[in-house]
Amino acid sequence: MINETMKIPQATAKRLPLYYRFIQNLHASGKQRVSSAELSEAVKVDSATIRRDFSYFGALGKKGYGYNVNYLLTFFRKTLDQDELTKVALIGVGNLGTAFLNYNFLKNNNTKIACAFDVDPEKMGTLIGDVPILPMDNLEEYLSNENIPVAILTVPAPAAQIITDRLVKANVKGILNFTPARLNVPSSIRVHHIDLAVELQSLVYFLKHYPTEEIE
Ligand code: ATP
Repeated sequence: MINETMKIPQATAKRLPLYYRFIQNLHASGKQRVSSAELSEAVKVDSATIRRDFSYFGALGKKGYGYNVNYLLTFFRKTLDQDELTKVALIGVGNLGTAFLNYNFLKNNNTKIACAFDVDPEKMGTLIGDVPILPMDNLEEYLSNENIPVAILTVPAPAAQIITDRLVKANVKGILNFTPARLNVPSSIRVHHIDLAVELQSLVYFLKHYPTEEIE
């Protein structure tokens, strides 16, 4: 089946969730149309880029009218698969993993952590929120039976690659890697790496060496 999103350039696709969140807010406040200038101000993307992005969505803004909010909302929902809940597994129920289990991802997007795995026998069989903590032995079988396409990795770095290899076998397509380890995966698997310690260090470095100009 040909997927509509395949025609959208990656740079545009990355801005989709940002547009979606803003359009949702507009819709909730009862607005029916929005101009590219208003959008530009709100999401901090220049209006020429917005017009080009939106032309990929088949949304043609009319001069003096702007874009139809309902049309955009329907498009984003469909394209981002917001009508379909994506189940996510979490591996490693430590401090960070527990925080994610308690965080309600459903509030902002249609993803839900459906299950979590850990090696610690004390954690197994318990629930955090409504999420069951399961033993690692069942990982592959459980994920493929339940058709879970995404995993969040919050284990210690030395365990990350071995678990990743098992996730690949279990048919997981995307991994959100919070460990400092760089993962090797086949080209069909997508890994997004978020190293919080590196991000924090980089922010502190930028503040010291590239101070932002005072605004007003
Ligand atoms: P965090 O790093 O999230 O702050 P922590 O300091 O509490 O967590 P870590 O040692 O980083 O603990 O381990 C994170 C979690 O990963 C723990 O719950 C631990 O039991 C689990 N864990 C460790 N090794 C594995 C493994 N091979 N497979 C699955 N889970 C593991």
